[in-house]
Amino acid sequence: MPRVSYFLSLLSLAFACSAFAAGGGKRIAITIDDVPAASATAITPDETTRLNQALLAALKRHGAKAVGFVNEDRLLVPGHVDEGIAILDAWLTAGMELGNHNFGHLGLWQSSLEDVEAAVLKGEVLTRRAAEAHHAPLRYYRHPYTQTGRTEAEREAFETFLATHGYTVAPMTVEHDDYVFACVYDHLVAQRDDPGRQAVADDYDAHLRASVQVFETMSQELLGRQVPQILLIHASRLNADTLDRTLTTLTELGYSFVPLDEALRDEAYRLPARASGRFGPSWLARWARAQGVKLSVYGQPDPQGRTAQWHTQLCSH
Ligand SMILES: [Zn+2]
Repeated sequence: MPRVSYFLSLLSLAFACSAFAAGGGKRIAITIDDVPAASATAITPDETTRLNQALLAALKRHGAKAVGFVNEDRLLVPGHVDEGIAILDAWLTAGMELGNHNFGHLGLWQSSLEDVEAAVLKGEVLTRRAAEAHHAPLRYYRHPYTQTGRTEAEREAFETFLATHGYTVAPMTVEHDDYVFACVYDHLVAQRDDPGRQAVADDYDAHLRASVQVFETMSQELLGRQVPQILLIHASRLNADTLDRTLTTLTELGYSFVPLDEALRDEAYRLPARASGRFGPSWLARWARAQGVKLSVYGQPDPQGRTAQWHTQLCSH
């Protein structure tokens, strides 16, 4: 009878929704480093503001709650500190969260543990004030270059320091060399090469698709399922212009966007991840290494073609 079939279809809809909520679909958290801006060429305070507005507009359009990791030294542009603070405010007003990426972007390969610890504390002053004004937490730390330590002892000591100061480490599982594409893009913008910019944006999208496939393979081989992934990109001109397309691509690939705290609730993020040393790969690679598991792939392919050639010409100095 119609009434019964109506009830049954409601029931199946409810099941479909709960299966999705339980993780039936693929999930990804978006994290954006080097807020307010990473640029290979000169960038004005006005452009920095517009860049952040574009990132936030794309995130809001797709209902994605991102975490922006701040380098406070980049906010201290003489005569323009208020604009920098307004950018932090804009992130929080848009419903995003801010994290600490340290003052000066010091990595745990080139800098001493003591210097990096000092940079964590020096780099939280304006962000903490902004977060408190919005009743928002300041709880995540993203290691510059995702370098978590030269040795296990150093990694553990630093993580204890971070925990003491209320920080959780923000891992990442998906990267697609966005800084390589972004550097080329910055130079082509400076040269007003619009067809070149478009070509880089197209290559960048293709590289995202190829890279995501690799990290899905790693997750399947290591965990036997799709972990909630964590994407790492940077606050660059490239991403300001293409984040809408990136998020559309991820949706096409079957992903829904989840906040970082939801992704981190997955038990995979409790797995041991060894100290990175100099190179900071995906946490999927770190987990595999800690378990002595051999995977068929260990990260995204290298950028090829036009972008790789341009990168050699424009960015390797
Ligand atoms: Zn960074």
